[in-house]
Amino acid sequence: MNTEATPAVGIDLGTTFSMLARLDDKGRPITLVNAEGERSTPSVVRFDNEDVVVGREALKAMATEPVKVADCSKRDMGNRVYHKVINGKQYPPEVIGAFILNKLRLDATAQTGPFTKVVITVPAYFDEVRRKATQDAGYMAGFEVLDIINEPTSAAIAFGFHHGFTSEEKTDRSHRVMVYDLGGGTFDVTVMEIRGSNYITLATDGDVQLGGYDWDQRLVDLVADAFIRQHFSDPREDPVTAGRLWRECEDAKRTLSTRPKASVPCDYHGFSSRIEIQREQFEEATQDLLDRTRFTMTQALKAAGLQWTDLDRVLLTGGSTRMPMVRAMVRQIAGKEPDTSVAADEAVAHGAALRAGLLIDKSRGKAPAFQIRNVNSHSLGVVGIDPSTKRRRNGILIPRNTPIPVTTKRNFKTHKPNQRSILVEVVEGENP
Ligand code: AMP
Repeated sequence: MNTEATPAVGIDLGTTFSMLARLDDKGRPITLVNAEGERSTPSVVRFDNEDVVVGREALKAMATEPVKVADCSKRDMGNRVYHKVINGKQYPPEVIGAFILNKLRLDATAQTGPFTKVVITVPAYFDEVRRKATQDAGYMAGFEVLDIINEPTSAAIAFGFHHGFTSEEKTDRSHRVMVYDLGGGTFDVTVMEIRGSNYITLATDGDVQLGGYDWDQRLVDLVADAFIRQHFSDPREDPVTAGRLWRECEDAKRTLSTRPKASVPCDYHGFSSRIEIQREQFEEATQDLLDRTRFTMTQALKAAGLQWTDLDRVLLTGGSTRMPMVRAMVRQIAGKEPDTSVAADEAVAHGAALRAGLLIDKSRGKAPAFQIRNVNSHSLGVVGIDPSTKRRRNGILIPRNTPIPVTTKRNFKTHKPNQRSILVEVVEGENP
């Protein structure tokens, strides 16, 4: 392949939706549509013997054949197998991820011609095992994975590009931004400094088990409870009805972002109802989820050594930040209007495409247009024996939120004199 024609491609492999962007011939990121003509592809896979379908068709099958469908596999990334048995088979989550990536590859190839080099994004809070699994998914889908970058960093790059920070005449400007990224299944908050064309992460925190999906579940429960009060029968008992109800609720949740109420149809056991849900009711039922994100924001700010007044902007990315309750909370806690100048669900893929462009340029000897400095999202240590308790514990060598790359040194004693060999167990996380 002619390297001049190598498109710079970035992929946002999301929990609920995935997206692929490339740089156009002027170096601007554009989202490519899939074969169905949509900008985002549901991260859902339907397995039917040899036949594997990804995207909208698979999502539809959630309501009719949920036992054949794998959704939210990103939440299991890094685990040995996906939590649900599909047609009697257990799949590693990265295999499901590979099917999604392969669909994106095939659809994009039809528009750009063949390509292999991509940058894939992951939540900043992903640990090494989850990052590696994502990279493996990329390789299995036939990609050469140039880099795995953090979603909030990617969103900040897209934001910086959008506002012209990456152009040379503005290199002296400095902005402190917090990126609040609430997607379908994960939540990330990152505090960054954009100094001209340098993107420096100051701190990052998050929750890999919190996202729009949890808001959906609460809505499903609200509707199911109302249905039970009317008909004494629980629609969540039957997987097909539950799958259909979940789809209706995800739809209603979007309606509630723009309207004060939404109604959800629910049919089960010969009973049929339309359950009306008020926005306040939904917000009340999900308040604790929002509070978790608020707590994480304050933690990240503290870790960055900043006050709310030190921040220039709070950027919102991820589809779930369209919920008015998120915007109101951010406005209240940060004391400023949240910035939604980059499209919530496209910023991550766009930033990844810009990063891919930079890496491709670099491999051709061109000077990079911007630089990224990151921190580690989890501590790294080795397992040693605590001399006071004689018990095994994590001796942290690189605390979380340390700027990387970094080299560190700490002395450990061997178990006995003249010991011939040692086993070094490297562990990630804060737990002693
Ligand atoms: P992402 O992975 O960033 O595309 O985010 C997808 C999540 O955003 C899903 O949980 C969607 O249900 C949610 N979402 C998308 N649009 C809206 C909206 N208008 N209101 C509420 N949630 C939304």
